[in-house]
Amino acid sequence: MRQGKNIICNRCGKRFAADGSKSGQEAIHVEKEWGYFSSRDGIRQMFDLCENCYDEWISSFRFLPENQEETEFL
Ligand SMILES: [Zn+2]
Repeated sequence: MRQGKNIICNRCGKRFAADGSKSGQEAIHVEKEWGYFSSRDGIRQMFDLCENCYDEWISSFRFLPENQEETEFL
């Protein structure tokens, strides 16, 4: 979650600067607006995870995320 210029990992509570270039830390931001037919009808949810928690999360996936290498660095 966001707190000022910081991101706090919703899972472990780790806090780091939103500007990943300064902290060397990045977070994954997930945002979902649940639709009419879901059990969360019309509710918007969002959370952030640090890289460690993201790793643990995806390790529970049956199929790992697809990787695509970025060839252009901005
Ligand atoms: Zn975490």
